Amino acid sequence: MDTLQKFLFEGLPVRGMLVRLGASWRDLLSRRASVSDGGHAFAAPVRALLGEMAAAGVLMQGNLKFNGAIILQMQGDGPVKLAVAETLPDLSFRVTAKVVGEVAADAGLEEMLNLHGQGRCAITLDPLDRLPGQQPYQGVVPLFGDQREPLQKLSEVLEHYMLQSEQLDTRLVLAADDSVAAGLLIQRLPMSGGANLAGQVLVSADEDHIGRSEDFNRIALLAATLTADELLTLQPAEVMHRLFWQETLRVFEPQQPRFACRCSRERVAGMLRGLGAEEVESLIAERGEAEVGCDFCGAIYRFDPVDVGGLFTPGHAVPPASSQLQ
Ligand SMILES: [Zn+2]
Repeated sequence: MDTLQKFLFEGLPVRGMLVRLGASWRDLLSRRASVSDGGHAFAAPVRALLGEMAAAGVLMQGNLKFNGAIILQMQGDGPVKLAVAETLPDLSFRVTAKVVGEVAADAGLEEMLNLHGQGRCAITLDPLDRLPGQQPYQGVVPLFGDQREPLQKLSEVLEHYMLQSEQLDTRLVLAADDSVAAGLLIQRLPMSGGANLAGQVLVSADEDHIGRSEDFNRIALLAATLTADELLTLQPAEVMHRLFWQETLRVFEPQQPRFACRCSRERVAGMLRGLGAEEVESLIAERGEAEVGCDFCGAIYRFDPVDVGGLFTPGHAVPPASSQLQ
């Protein structure tokens, strides 16, 4: 079963989370594989990146108390121009990518996204109850480390983001292949009363604080020993046992992530209305119908001349999904 498993280290200011996407990840891949991107399926490293992004998105959604979409966007200057993973509060997720040119079978983050040093990762928090005129929150981190060294792992990029945005030490281990996308997150909890208004954890020299740092460091070191192979093959309970058998864990009820797309015939109709009658009618004149494919799930929405006429007739409802292919 696909799960998000949260846990706490009893008595320590450290929390953990494991995600394992199996059936939902394969479901997504099978649909996305039917969609061509420049005429070919994504190369293995792109599929792995998208899987890691999906796992990371679910972890971040589980980690933040936020009522909205969390959108991870990798914007690249290599063959991968864009990779997107979006997760909603109900842990439904979807991913897509825009690839131009060849991706080598052994390409890492740098070769895919950061060939000329312009790659970056944008994390957008888009509230579901956003007020008119309210902007989503966005944080951007480069694909470089503190010493300007190119980062080779998505987990390192996101650790930087967490430290920057939440001022919280975080360790992430991510892995994905064509069967499973999975991740482990370990995070130092903010100490009660220890954070200032900017969210920065105040440095205190007392013994207790130092002891607590050591707890996090010990657990983070254990987390870092987890291999991609273990993460992909072991169930969450087995991972927790293998890494943290000497710790006392409080384990919460697992949650179930799933693949789901937010596209709909209504949304596509709205998009076509936004293009304007003239534009859409010239499309119809050229091709006989307007066809819009969803980049996330591969659904194709078709609007024939009658449908399109209805779109631009005031008071006319959105046409039924008679010609919709899923
Ligand atoms: Zn869709």
